[in-house]
Amino acid sequence: MALALRGEGAECPCCGARLRHFAGFNGRSGALCPACGALERHRALWLLLRRRWGQGSTPRRVLHFAPEPAIGRNLERLGIGEYVTADIEAPADLTVDICDTGLPGGSFDGIVCSHVLEHVSDDRRAMRELLRLLAPGGEAIVMVPLDSSRETTEDGPEVTEPAERERRFGQHDHLRLYGRDFEARLVEAGFDVSVQQVRLSAAERERFGVHEKDPVFVSRPPG
Ligand SMILES: [Zn+2]
Repeated sequence: MALALRGEGAECPCCGARLRHFAGFNGRSGALCPACGALERHRALWLLLRRRWGQGSTPRRVLHFAPEPAIGRNLERLGIGEYVTADIEAPADLTVDICDTGLPGGSFDGIVCSHVLEHVSDDRRAMRELLRLLAPGGEAIVMVPLDSSRETTEDGPEVTEPAERERRFGQHDHLRLYGRDFEARLVEAGFDVSVQQVRLSAAERERFGVHEKDPVFVSRPPG
Protein backbone atom coordinates (compact mmCIF):
# COMPACT_ATOMS: atom_id res chain seq x y z
CA MET A 1 0.00 0.00 0.00
CA ALA A 2 1.16 3.53 -0.73
CA LEU A 3 2.84 4.76 2.43
CA ALA A 4 1.45 8.19 1.78
CA LEU A 5 -2.08 6.98 2.55
CA ARG A 6 -1.31 5.37 5.88
CA GLY A 7 -2.86 7.25 8.72
CA GLU A 8 -5.69 7.38 11.21
CA GLY A 9 -8.63 9.17 9.60
CA ALA A 10 -10.17 6.14 7.91
CA GLU A 11 -10.36 2.40 8.43
CA CYS A 12 -11.25 -0.29 5.91
CA PRO A 13 -13.61 -2.83 7.51
CA CYS A 14 -12.76 -5.34 4.77
CA CYS A 15 -9.02 -5.56 5.45
CA GLY A 16 -8.41 -3.50 8.59
CA ALA A 17 -6.10 -1.01 6.82
CA ARG A 18 -5.77 2.32 8.61
CA LEU A 19 -5.57 5.21 6.22
CA ARG A 20 -5.42 8.94 6.06
CA HIS A 21 -8.35 8.64 3.66
CA PHE A 22 -9.65 6.30 0.98
CA ALA A 23 -8.34 6.89 -2.53
CA GLY A 24 -10.24 8.36 -5.45
CA PHE A 25 -11.87 6.02 -7.97
CA ASN A 26 -13.91 6.74 -11.11
CA GLY A 27 -14.10 10.41 -10.26
CA ARG A 28 -15.28 9.77 -6.69
CA SER A 29 -13.11 10.83 -3.78
CA GLY A 30 -12.86 8.61 -0.70
CA ALA A 31 -13.89 5.52 -2.67
CA LEU A 32 -11.14 2.90 -2.92
CA CYS A 33 -9.18 1.06 -0.25
CA PRO A 34 -5.63 1.02 -1.66
CA ALA A 35 -4.79 -2.05 0.42
CA CYS A 36 -7.56 -4.49 -0.63
CA GLY A 37 -9.44 -2.81 -3.47
CA ALA A 38 -12.73 -2.49 -1.55
CA LEU A 39 -15.11 0.25 -2.72
CA GLU A 40 -17.86 1.96 -0.68
CA ARG A 41 -20.45 -0.71 -1.51
CA HIS A 42 -18.05 -3.55 -0.62
CA ARG A 43 -17.41 -2.00 2.76
CA ALA A 44 -21.16 -1.48 3.35
CA LEU A 45 -21.88 -5.07 2.33
CA TRP A 46 -19.18 -6.54 4.52
CA LEU A 47 -20.23 -4.52 7.57
CA LEU A 48 -23.76 -5.84 7.12
CA LEU A 49 -22.66 -9.43 6.48
CA ARG A 50 -20.34 -9.37 9.47
CA ARG A 51 -23.20 -8.31 11.73
CA ARG A 52 -25.69 -10.67 10.12
CA TRP A 53 -23.66 -13.79 9.59
CA GLY A 54 -20.70 -13.29 11.90
CA GLN A 55 -22.48 -13.43 15.22
CA GLY A 56 -23.81 -16.89 15.81
CA SER A 57 -26.04 -17.18 12.75
CA THR A 58 -23.43 -18.14 10.19
CA PRO A 59 -24.98 -20.04 7.26
CA ARG A 60 -23.57 -23.52 6.72
CA ARG A 61 -23.45 -23.40 2.92
CA VAL A 62 -22.85 -20.16 1.04
CA LEU A 63 -22.85 -19.47 -2.69
CA HIS A 64 -21.13 -16.24 -3.73
CA PHE A 65 -21.84 -14.97 -7.25
CA ALA A 66 -19.19 -12.89 -9.05
CA PRO A 67 -17.11 -13.07 -5.87
CA GLU A 68 -15.50 -9.81 -4.82
CA PRO A 69 -12.12 -10.68 -3.27
CA ALA A 70 -12.52 -8.08 -0.51
CA ILE A 71 -15.71 -9.88 0.62
CA GLY A 72 -14.75 -13.46 -0.18
CA ARG A 73 -11.64 -13.49 1.98
CA ASN A 74 -13.69 -12.38 4.96
CA LEU A 75 -16.55 -14.81 4.31
CA GLU A 76 -14.11 -17.69 4.29
CA ARG A 77 -12.93 -16.64 7.74
CA LEU A 78 -16.44 -16.71 9.22
CA GLY A 79 -16.30 -20.47 9.56
CA ILE A 80 -18.84 -21.28 6.85
CA GLY A 81 -18.90 -25.06 6.34
CA GLU A 82 -19.08 -24.86 2.57
CA TYR A 83 -18.14 -21.65 0.74
CA VAL A 84 -18.60 -21.87 -3.04
CA THR A 85 -17.93 -19.17 -5.62
CA ALA A 86 -19.75 -18.96 -8.96
CA ASP A 87 -19.35 -16.82 -12.04
CA ILE A 88 -20.21 -16.81 -15.73
CA GLU A 89 -16.51 -17.24 -16.47
CA ALA A 90 -13.44 -18.61 -14.71
CA PRO A 91 -11.89 -18.27 -12.19
CA ALA A 92 -14.57 -19.39 -9.76
CA ASP A 93 -15.36 -22.74 -8.16
CA LEU A 94 -18.34 -23.08 -10.51
CA THR A 95 -18.64 -21.61 -14.01
CA VAL A 96 -22.40 -21.25 -14.34
CA ASP A 97 -25.17 -19.09 -15.77
CA ILE A 98 -27.03 -17.45 -12.89
CA CYS A 99 -30.31 -18.02 -14.76
CA ASP A 100 -29.81 -21.77 -14.91
CA THR A 101 -27.05 -23.07 -12.64
CA GLY A 102 -27.97 -26.74 -12.91
CA LEU A 103 -27.37 -27.05 -9.16
CA PRO A 104 -29.84 -28.97 -6.99
CA GLY A 105 -32.60 -26.85 -5.44
CA GLY A 106 -32.23 -25.93 -1.78
CA SER A 107 -28.44 -26.33 -1.89
CA PHE A 108 -27.51 -23.19 0.05
CA ASP A 109 -28.40 -21.37 3.26
CA GLY A 110 -26.81 -18.13 2.14
CA ILE A 111 -26.27 -16.49 -1.25
CA VAL A 112 -24.32 -13.30 -1.92
CA CYS A 113 -25.23 -11.62 -5.20
CA SER A 114 -24.02 -8.03 -5.40
CA HIS A 115 -23.94 -5.93 -8.55
CA VAL A 116 -24.67 -8.93 -10.78
CA LEU A 117 -28.32 -8.68 -11.85
CA GLU A 118 -27.83 -5.45 -13.81
CA HIS A 119 -25.56 -7.44 -16.17
CA VAL A 120 -28.08 -10.26 -16.74
CA SER A 121 -30.52 -9.98 -19.63
CA ASP A 122 -33.31 -11.95 -17.94
CA ASP A 123 -32.84 -10.77 -14.37
CA ARG A 124 -36.29 -12.04 -13.32
CA ARG A 125 -35.25 -15.55 -14.28
CA ALA A 126 -32.01 -15.12 -12.32
CA MET A 127 -34.02 -14.06 -9.25
CA ARG A 128 -36.20 -17.16 -9.53
CA GLU A 129 -33.05 -19.29 -9.78
CA LEU A 130 -31.65 -17.69 -6.60
CA LEU A 131 -34.90 -18.52 -4.84
CA ARG A 132 -34.77 -22.11 -6.07
CA LEU A 133 -31.20 -22.54 -4.79
CA LEU A 134 -32.07 -21.46 -1.23
CA ALA A 135 -32.92 -23.96 1.46
CA PRO A 136 -35.88 -23.12 3.73
CA GLY A 137 -34.81 -20.47 6.22
CA GLY A 138 -31.93 -19.36 3.98
CA GLU A 139 -31.36 -15.88 2.60
CA ALA A 140 -29.92 -14.18 -0.45
CA ILE A 141 -28.07 -10.91 0.14
CA VAL A 142 -28.70 -8.87 -3.01
CA MET A 143 -27.36 -5.47 -4.05
CA VAL A 144 -27.66 -3.62 -7.37
CA PRO A 145 -26.78 -0.13 -8.53
CA LEU A 146 -30.03 1.70 -7.95
CA ASP A 147 -31.18 5.20 -8.78
CA SER A 148 -33.53 6.01 -5.93
CA SER A 149 -34.80 9.07 -7.76
CA ARG A 150 -36.39 6.74 -10.34
CA GLU A 151 -39.73 5.18 -9.55
CA THR A 152 -39.41 2.48 -12.18
CA THR A 153 -36.54 0.58 -13.72
CA GLU A 154 -35.42 1.48 -17.20
CA ASP A 155 -34.96 -1.89 -18.81
CA GLY A 156 -32.79 -2.25 -21.89
CA PRO A 157 -31.42 -5.72 -22.61
CA GLU A 158 -31.95 -4.93 -26.30
CA VAL A 159 -29.44 -2.05 -26.15
CA THR A 160 -26.12 -3.50 -27.30
CA GLU A 161 -24.07 -0.39 -28.04
CA PRO A 162 -21.66 0.11 -25.09
CA ALA A 163 -21.72 3.91 -25.36
CA GLU A 164 -25.52 3.92 -25.36
CA ARG A 165 -25.57 1.63 -22.32
CA GLU A 166 -23.14 3.92 -20.55
CA ARG A 167 -25.33 6.92 -21.33
CA ARG A 168 -28.61 5.31 -20.29
CA PHE A 169 -27.59 2.87 -17.57
CA GLY A 170 -24.36 4.35 -16.23
CA GLN A 171 -21.92 1.65 -17.35
CA HIS A 172 -20.99 0.09 -20.69
CA ASP A 173 -22.03 -3.43 -19.61
CA HIS A 174 -25.19 -2.63 -17.65
CA LEU A 175 -28.44 -3.74 -19.24
CA ARG A 176 -30.78 -1.56 -17.20
CA LEU A 177 -30.97 1.11 -14.56
CA TYR A 178 -32.92 -0.05 -11.53
CA GLY A 179 -35.35 2.26 -9.79
CA ARG A 180 -37.29 2.04 -6.55
CA ASP A 181 -39.32 -0.86 -7.99
CA PHE A 182 -36.35 -3.23 -7.65
CA GLU A 183 -37.72 -4.63 -4.41
CA ALA A 184 -41.06 -5.34 -6.14
CA ARG A 185 -39.20 -7.31 -8.78
CA LEU A 186 -37.72 -9.57 -6.09
CA VAL A 187 -41.15 -9.97 -4.50
CA GLU A 188 -42.61 -10.85 -7.89
CA ALA A 189 -39.97 -13.58 -8.20
CA GLY A 190 -41.33 -15.05 -4.96
CA PHE A 191 -39.08 -13.64 -2.25
CA ASP A 192 -39.94 -12.16 1.11
CA VAL A 193 -37.76 -9.06 1.07
CA SER A 194 -36.42 -6.88 3.83
CA VAL A 195 -34.49 -3.80 2.76
CA GLN A 196 -31.61 -3.11 5.09
CA GLN A 197 -28.75 -0.75 5.53
CA VAL A 198 -25.92 -1.28 7.89
CA ARG A 199 -26.59 0.96 10.90
CA LEU A 200 -23.73 3.34 11.48
CA SER A 201 -23.29 6.66 13.19
CA ALA A 202 -22.24 9.60 11.05
CA ALA A 203 -18.73 9.28 12.48
CA GLU A 204 -18.56 5.56 11.59
CA ARG A 205 -19.86 6.27 8.11
CA GLU A 206 -17.11 8.78 7.66
CA ARG A 207 -14.44 6.51 9.14
CA PHE A 208 -15.46 3.41 7.11
CA GLY A 209 -16.16 5.37 3.93
CA VAL A 210 -19.72 4.06 3.50
CA HIS A 211 -22.62 5.89 1.84
CA GLU A 212 -26.12 5.96 3.19
CA LYS A 213 -27.54 5.15 -0.21
CA ASP A 214 -26.42 1.53 -0.63
CA PRO A 215 -29.43 -0.59 0.38
CA VAL A 216 -29.08 -4.34 0.84
CA PHE A 217 -32.02 -6.53 -0.14
CA VAL A 218 -32.23 -9.49 2.23
CA SER A 219 -34.35 -11.92 0.26
CA ARG A 220 -35.81 -15.08 1.74
CA PRO A 221 -38.01 -17.92 0.57
CA PRO A 222 -41.58 -17.34 1.78
CA GLY A 223 -42.84 -18.97 4.95
ZN1 LIG B 1 -9.21 -2.62 2.55
